[in-house]
Amino acid sequence: MSGREAQQTIHVDGAWRSAASGATREILDPADGRSFAVVAEGDEKDADTAVEAARRAFDEGAWPRTPAAERAALLRRVADFLVRDREELGLLESRDAGKTVEEGRVDIDCVADAFRYFADLVAAEGAGRVVDAGSPDVHSVVVHEPVGVCALITPWNYPLLQASWKVAPALAAGNSFVIKPSEITPLTTVALIELLVEAGLPAGVANIVTGPGQSVGARLAEHPGVDLVSFTGGLVSGTKVARAAAEGVKKVALELGGKNPNVVFADACATDEGFDTAVDQALNAAFIHSGQVCSAGGRLIIEESVRDRFVAELARRAERIRLGRGTEQGVECGPLVSEQQREKTEAYVASALVEGAVLRAGGRRPEPSSARPATGYFYEPTVLDRCHRGMKVVREEVFGPVLTVETFRTEDEAVALANDTEYGLAGAVWTADAGRARRVAGRLRHGTVWINDFHPYLPQAEWGGFGKSGVGRELGPAGLAEYREAKHVYHNLRPKPVRWFAG
Ligand code: NAD
Repeated sequence: MSGREAQQTIHVDGAWRSAASGATREILDPADGRSFAVVAEGDEKDADTAVEAARRAFDEGAWPRTPAAERAALLRRVADFLVRDREELGLLESRDAGKTVEEGRVDIDCVADAFRYFADLVAAEGAGRVVDAGSPDVHSVVVHEPVGVCALITPWNYPLLQASWKVAPALAAGNSFVIKPSEITPLTTVALIELLVEAGLPAGVANIVTGPGQSVGARLAEHPGVDLVSFTGGLVSGTKVARAAAEGVKKVALELGGKNPNVVFADACATDEGFDTAVDQALNAAFIHSGQVCSAGGRLIIEESVRDRFVAELARRAERIRLGRGTEQGVECGPLVSEQQREKTEAYVASALVEGAVLRAGGRRPEPSSARPATGYFYEPTVLDRCHRGMKVVREEVFGPVLTVETFRTEDEAVALANDTEYGLAGAVWTADAGRARRVAGRLRHGTVWINDFHPYLPQAEWGGFGKSGVGRELGPAGLAEYREAKHVYHNLRPKPVRWFAG
């Protein structure tokens, strides 16, 4: 823990501190509701101090002017440290967010991949794009410079992964930053800052303030010393962040929620193998990390002729998912992150049943067991049949283990249903017909479209949403461009008077 006290989770200008007010927060294990760590509960004052430090590091420090190859080397060192600490960090992510340890480990691998990807991207770049100015006496070049001080605000479902999609490109581009992780899952982000310090990042470049969104997050979004705000979270907070950032005309990137369709055509289920794969992946799409995934496939849109068989098998398998503490051997799915998240899920299921949905699996809290303490926030994977687009559960993001089933008869109807959402983050189409696959993929208004798959992403491919799923992109070259300003340098090699004005 680099010699810091447990509650010293604010890192400003190279030093670990407690909150200026002295306030602290207990971090709860979602599997039993018990406190297992304590962190600083920062407020606006801590946010201000952190922005001032990041401002100094950017305006006066060496990092923005450090050659790209050196910045890339530092990012690669961080990736190596992540691999070295994989077990410890994977376990910490599991306890903090409630996911299984295996999911936690996979998250850490993906975090290391993000650091390596952005290191490779900047290391391979040239020194700018030469533009033909139409004269041999002019040398014109467009260069990309860091945007400045970045405020990075992250959610609780993939705490370190979401942080890495911001921290790695921000640093690769030469920025300084202040990060505010979710107040309920801050621990691995604090650990990441320790790794950045260990890797030799200059003081003041990477700052973290643990604390609530309404105080620390809101202050960062409006702070005049911040040049860019990159936010991942829900639509309600994202809208507030965008409004605050607009007041200061800051650059803003938003990764918000999703209501993601999983469209299954009957031809995908024509063979036993095809049927089994589509069912298996539909379960994965909806229930991985208890559905607390922005791209969760919580909306199954299936061709009517195969609905009964498909839903019966889905329900059978959903009932068998082994729920429990993420650190327990053999557990496939952990609890929800908080009691609030569980109650929200229960309210969506209750409203769906009132609106006419038919419960095929789950729909309740499981019996406690040795792997599932009664005080944990568990909820059974739930399948709701006979749903339609008028229902609240179909329109709004649940962020819990709930799968709704709607049906279609024609390709046009399938596309219309899949696009009938205010969001547009991700969606999938399952079919054995390659022509149909390409046609439907082309018509889906979502930032990621999977054909005969669900959930994979690549660090080299942009991630982000259409519609209310957000503004801007993470990952890929566009995910680096978010953290930069383009500058045109026009060099006249033979200056002469213009003589526009007489005399
Ligand atoms: P949230 O919006 O409640 O919180 C996200 C972050 O914003 C937290 O750090 C929170 O403290 C902070 N925050 C809250 N109010 C704020 C304010 N007024 N000003 C500034 N910051 C504020 O979201 P959550 O519940 O932590 O995460 C779940 C949401 O995140 C879901 O909607 C999910 O879809 C979304 N998400 C999206 C992606 C994506 O890539 N599009 C990825 C992960 C999660």
